[in-house]
Amino acid sequence: MNLTENPKPLTLALSKGRIFDETLPLLEAAGIQVTENPESSRKLILPTSSPALRLIIVRATDVPTYVQYGAADFGVAGKDVLDEHTVTHPGGLYQPIDLNIAHCRMCVAVREGFDYDEAVRQGSRLRVATKYVHAAREHFGRKGVHVDLIKLYGSMELAPLVGLADAIVDLVSTGNTLRANHLVPVEDITNISARLIVNQAALKTRDSELRPILDAFARASGAVQ
Ligand code: AMP
Repeated sequence: MNLTENPKPLTLALSKGRIFDETLPLLEAAGIQVTENPESSRKLILPTSSPALRLIIVRATDVPTYVQYGAADFGVAGKDVLDEHTVTHPGGLYQPIDLNIAHCRMCVAVREGFDYDEAVRQGSRLRVATKYVHAAREHFGRKGVHVDLIKLYGSMELAPLVGLADAIVDLVSTGNTLRANHLVPVEDITNISARLIVNQAALKTRDSELRPILDAFARASGAVQ
């Protein structure tokens, strides 16, 4: 064994679901296979076919935290999660690539039949439930609409149905969840996709190990380096 080699594997932070599923082909493009599925395995640390790389499985909103503090060298997180994280934890994360995966839109949605334009035109205060309070505050601030924001951690679609809020700000992909709950999108706020983020210290100290993976991710996602 070459003793000058770093024996600690690189750590990549991913969340279960779309981010995990859509990162697998990018890892394969880097010649790395993942044999265990976090949906069926209860393990939070997963080996890969490369002894030089392991995965940790964390909540989507925790991916930037693990990478920022260096517990993971790099990670994959949605732009929605990153934008909210950056407001409270600026700096410390290098964001080199838009991975072009986990696409969706951040939208304002209301109950079918709710006259959003009229509510906004009247200048009445709108009650808005969302996980994305910073993005929502910015959006309605730009429009000059007064809002009372209610922070939720999930199932935002329920809020307008039970009178908790007039509107929600949420992610929409196929639109099926909105339709199933008799909600309609009334405004697009921004397009979302997942980004690669890298710990700034790791970028300097482990550049030679990270570089081939980052390059393969960039090529496979069509990102221009
Ligand atoms: P859909 O029914 O396909 O429009 O998906 C909407 C539901 O999936 C909502 O609960 C969203 O919060 C969630 N969702 C959609 N796209 C994403 C994404 N890229 N990342 C995380 N959650 C998403």
